[in-house]
Amino acid sequence: MKAALLRGPGDIVLEEVPVPEISDNEVLIEVKYCGICGSDLGSYRTRDLIQPGTYLGHEFSGVIAKVGKNLKGWKVGDRVVCNELYECGECYACKRGFTSCCPHAMDHEIGCVPGLEDAGGFAKYVRIPHPEYRLYALPGEVSFEEGTLVEPLACSLHAVRISNFKPRERAMVLGCGMIGLGVITHLKNAGAGLIVATEVIEKRTEMAEKLGADYVFNPQEVSNLKEEVLELTDRVGVDVVFDCSGIPQAFQSAPGFLRPRGQIILIGLLAHEVPIVPLQFNLGEYNLQASFCYYHDEFPMVIELLKRHISPIEEVITSKIKLSDIVKKGFDVLTSSGNNEIKVIVEPDE
Ligand SMILES: [Zn+2]
Ligand SMILES: [Zn+2]
Repeated sequence: MKAALLRGPGDIVLEEVPVPEISDNEVLIEVKYCGICGSDLGSYRTRDLIQPGTYLGHEFSGVIAKVGKNLKGWKVGDRVVCNELYECGECYACKRGFTSCCPHAMDHEIGCVPGLEDAGGFAKYVRIPHPEYRLYALPGEVSFEEGTLVEPLACSLHAVRISNFKPRERAMVLGCGMIGLGVITHLKNAGAGLIVATEVIEKRTEMAEKLGADYVFNPQEVSNLKEEVLELTDRVGVDVVFDCSGIPQAFQSAPGFLRPRGQIILIGLLAHEVPIVPLQFNLGEYNLQASFCYYHDEFPMVIELLKRHISPIEEVITSKIKLSDIVKKGFDVLTSSGNNEIKVIVEPDE
């Protein structure tokens, strides 16, 4: 089979690899679809995020193709999605359920770290070690296409759950890619009083409005965004800013939109230095809370959300492409300026 391998910035190839062998405690998944994530794109642009030598793909849905003989409760043909993070089970974080903070979470992260011998989700088959916390059943009401949204929606849900946000409060969402759109979805479900968002791509702006954003500003077109936010909030500022942009300037601007003692939730991944003035945080007594992925118990919560179809979130999937086109119709399009895509999902065809 073919598997997408990141060799370096701007360099992804489809490499011929064997179908993985599984142990008695593992499962093999036949992938139906796998989404291209912002972190995949980040590593295609620069070396900041996922490192060269990684078989990519961590947002996949599929069916079980083989089950290790020690495993109970799963059978061939079961529809599933997968949590790609690893948990050691022994450390301070794992013992308290803060599983994404496990110091080893990324050592064996499927589709995100170099040196793993097997394919990630951009391939026909993926080996799943530790299915006991990684594998979740996808109910019949949720399509395989929608199943690819479980992982990114879990990231968004986690950010809202660890924030100080409460019903009727005002929130701001910087960046309406998949994660920002997920945050808007969860905020709306949680009873937000006001959701102000920022985005430059037209289709994402439309989607943000559809999912519940009250105002979406294009930061390249508004001369004084802070003033706009103050106008909408009785000149007080918002309670929580969710920075989903992955853009240094957006992160730097975040404190300017907050009410006194407001909170910034940093979700976008910035792997290099970004200058900030700490005094600004002292003066407003602001709180900066970073968020990373999700805890595994948030997967079933997202599956339930999708199962009930209470939001049109599946409309974020703007293109379905074949694995053989992953570079040309996927990575190259998504990293080109002026593209009008949100989520592109990939179907294995070789
Ligand atoms: Zn992702
Ligand atoms: Zn651990």
